[in-house]
Amino acid sequence: MSSATDVLTRKPKNIAIETNPSHELNVVDTDVPEPGPDQCLIHVRATGICGSDVHFWKSGNIGDSVIKCNLGLGHESAGIVVKTGSNVSRLKVGDRVALECGIPCSKPTCDACRTGRYNACPEIIFYSSPPVHGTLRRYHVHPEAWLHPLPDSISYEEGALLEPLSVALAGIERSGLRLGDALVICGAGPIGLVSLLAAHAASAAPIVITDLDENRLAMAKSLVPRVRTVQIQRSEDAKASANRIKQALRQEAKLVIECTGVESSIHTGIYASRFGGSVFVIGVGKDFQQIPFMHASFREIDIRFLFRYRETYPKAIMLVSEGLIDLKPLVTHRFTLEQGKDAFEAASNPAAKAVKVQLLDD
Ligand code: NAD
Ligand code: ZN
Repeated sequence: MSSATDVLTRKPKNIAIETNPSHELNVVDTDVPEPGPDQCLIHVRATGICGSDVHFWKSGNIGDSVIKCNLGLGHESAGIVVKTGSNVSRLKVGDRVALECGIPCSKPTCDACRTGRYNACPEIIFYSSPPVHGTLRRYHVHPEAWLHPLPDSISYEEGALLEPLSVALAGIERSGLRLGDALVICGAGPIGLVSLLAAHAASAAPIVITDLDENRLAMAKSLVPRVRTVQIQRSEDAKASANRIKQALRQEAKLVIECTGVESSIHTGIYASRFGGSVFVIGVGKDFQQIPFMHASFREIDIRFLFRYRETYPKAIMLVSEGLIDLKPLVTHRFTLEQGKDAFEAASNPAAKAVKVQLLDD
C-alpha cells in the first residue's frame, strides 16, 4: 500500500494552472514548496473552478484586484497532508483536509480578527487573488490553522465543494432565513444551487429558483424536487418577471437570495419582495448599479450584501457528513491537472452545460 508521502517521489512535478496579464492560461511546472513551521504540505486532490477563476483569466481583474504577473488560479480545494512543519501538532501526514483559502492576519491588534469577523481582516490574503497564487496545483503549502479535517464519509470532490457551500451558509446566516420563510433564489449557478441545498436543509418554504438557462433549472429540480422554477426571459422587464415569480410562490417573497449580481435580476428580486422583506445579494456585478429606490423605500425592503464567509467550514462539514446536504451531483465535469485548459474551456463555454468543473489528481 502506498503512503501519503510516496506521492512526492511518484509525482515529483508540481503542476499548476496559471493565467497572466495577456489572458493566457498555462499549465506550468513549479517547485514543490517546503512547509514553514506552522504549515502543512498538501497534495491537492480536488479543486473546483470558480466563476472568479474564469473571470481573472478572461478579464484580468475583479474590481480593484488586477493581474499584473503570472497568477496561479483556484481556491476550492481539498487534499491530503504529505508533510508537516515543525510546529504542526493538530494534523499529521495522511490526514484528509479541506483548504480554507482566505488567511487573515490573526493578530490580537486586528479588530476584525480579534472579534471573529475575520473575513473583514484588512490584511487577509486569499489564495488565487492577485498577487497570491491559488491552490489549483498538485502541491501547496497551507497554514495548519486553516485546514479542516474531513471525515472518511466526505470525498475530496465534496471537500472542494465546501468552499461554495461556505458562501451559501454565510449568506443563509447573515440573511436571517427562518423555517417556513417564502424564499426566492435568483440564479441557479453553483452558488444559487448550493444556496438552494442549504435553504432546503434550513426548511425555507416555499422556494422558487430562477435562471435564464433551463438546464440549470433542471439541475435545481433534481437536487430539490419541491423547488419551483421560473425561467427568466432576457426580453421581459423586471416587474413582469417578478409577477411570474410571485405566482409560482403564490405569495410575495419574505426573502430573496440573489445569486447573479446582474442588475435586472436584483430589480426582479426587489419587485418580488413583500413589504418589509429583504433582498440578500450574494452575486457580485458591475461597480455601479441602479436600484428601484422608491419602490424599496415605500415597502421597507432591506438590501444587504455578503463578502465571502467566516466560521463556515466546520458547519459545512457537519451538514454534509450528517446527510442534510448532498453536494455530489454538482460535479458535472472532471479533468486531470494536465488537462487544465480543457477544464477551463468546459467551465467557460455554456455549450458544455457544466455546473461544477473539478480538476482531480490521485
Ligand atoms: P454563475 O455565473 O455560474 O451563475 C450565475 C447564474 O445566474 C447562471 O446560471 C446564469 O444563467 C444566471 N443568470 C444570469 N442572469 C440572470 C437573470 N437575469 N436572472 C436569473 N438568472 C440569471 O456564478 P456562480 O458561481 O453561481 O456565482 C454567482 C454569483 O455569486 C457571482 O456573481 C459570483 O461572483 C458571486 N459570488 C459572491 C461571493 C460573495 O462573497 N459575495 C462569493 C462567491 C461568488
Ligand atoms: Zn486581521
